[in-house]
Amino acid sequence: MSRASCYDVVIIGGGVMGCSIAWRLAQEKQRVLVLERSVPGAEASSAAAGMLVPHAEAHGDNPMTRLMMKSAARFPKLSTELQNATGMDVEYRRSGALRVAFTARQGKELKRPSWASRAKVQQKSFSSAGLSKLESSLAKLHSGVLYPKDARIDPRLFLRSTHLAALRSGAEFRSGTYVECIEQRAKKAEAVRLEDGTRIMAGTVVVAAGSWSALVEGVPLQRQDVIPARGQVIELTSSSPLTDRVIFGPDCYAVPRDDGRILIGSTTEFVGHRRGVTARAARDLLTAAIALMPALGDARLTGSWSNFRPFAADGLPVLGKTGVDGLLLATGHYRTGILLAPITAEIIRCLILGKRSPVPLASFSSSRLARSSPLSK
Ligand SMILES: Cc1cc2nc3c(=O)[nH]c(=O)nc-3n(C[C@H](O)[C@H](O)[C@H](O)COP(=O)(O)OP(=O)(O)OC[C@H]3O[C@@H](n4cnc5c(N)ncnc54)[C@H](O)[C@@H]3O)c2cc1C
Repeated sequence: MSRASCYDVVIIGGGVMGCSIAWRLAQEKQRVLVLERSVPGAEASSAAAGMLVPHAEAHGDNPMTRLMMKSAARFPKLSTELQNATGMDVEYRRSGALRVAFTARQGKELKRPSWASRAKVQQKSFSSAGLSKLESSLAKLHSGVLYPKDARIDPRLFLRSTHLAALRSGAEFRSGTYVECIEQRAKKAEAVRLEDGTRIMAGTVVVAAGSWSALVEGVPLQRQDVIPARGQVIELTSSSPLTDRVIFGPDCYAVPRDDGRILIGSTTEFVGHRRGVTARAARDLLTAAIALMPALGDARLTGSWSNFRPFAADGLPVLGKTGVDGLLLATGHYRTGILLAPITAEIIRCLILGKRSPVPLASFSSSRLARSSPLSK
């Protein structure tokens, strides 16, 4: 016989989305349960580089740029709030980000686009000589653009701190708990079923299962709507910190940590959920990184990993209500899930409490993914 229990909100997945949403809802005195098949932060959220770079990553004056900007603006207050709630410094640093070019042709691509000021993208151009003054660790380059408002964070500390803040606010977490299915009655989500047959009743179910979101039975997505995009990362450690900034070269990025580690990323590969760091990717990332910062040639190789960004066909997140009452989605955050965690948590909190979303959600709705010839699950 199956055992049943009942929560206001059940969240599937304990990554940065699940933890952030749980925290915000627990603060509102909602009875929240997060179900995580492994442990919180086991997947993409701990693999991320930690760039918070909406200015450097903006691709137009559009809803995604506005979403990134709004979320980025929440980090200063959020990091203080986390520090007060948990005593942890999540290493949020307004370091700025730098895009650099080796050649005149690459330099042309860095030129300020016409929409930049409309989208409030702040940037400053540097010549070769200016760059050398700004960042002495860089190789001889053609030019670069500094995005002074961009930032970085340590995603593992961010995840741990958010998880702890959620626990302290009263959210419950069950690790090692695999959700097999979301049960519905009359187009309303009413429970989740675990693999051992346990049923847990829920007022609302939030799917925050990252690149596995479309695989949960009962989720109104086709399998191909959210798929894994594997990213590989190499961690180097230099005896003294080489830079404070996030740096984008043409073939890799470098993201420093306060303690001298520097993360080199990344690949984007559509190989299913196949884990692993390949020799080719490691070679290419190391070659690109040393070309960018020659002193990295003497750094120690201290880690490497891969994980899966949740990718929807148009690269945008999938947020909010679905055709099933009481079933919300918080997935598809692809390359910017750490950046977008605060705004996502706020959107889901507002929708569950019956308030207006802080941003228009049409561009991020799951209905945009509807296909004419859907594959069966
Ligand atoms: C190499 C790399 C670099 C990145 N760099 C950055 C960056 O610099 N900046 C940035 O903003 N973003 C970055 N990202 C993206 C970011 O990491 C992701 O968008 C974000 O972590 C997604 O969070 P999530 O909670 O949705 O998914 P995840 O962290 O993957 O969490 C989903 C959780 O759901 C659990 N789960 C899945 N299915 C079930 C089930 N059926 N039952 C129970 N639990 C389940 C999983 O075990 C997992 O813990 C990077 C990603 C990668 C891979």
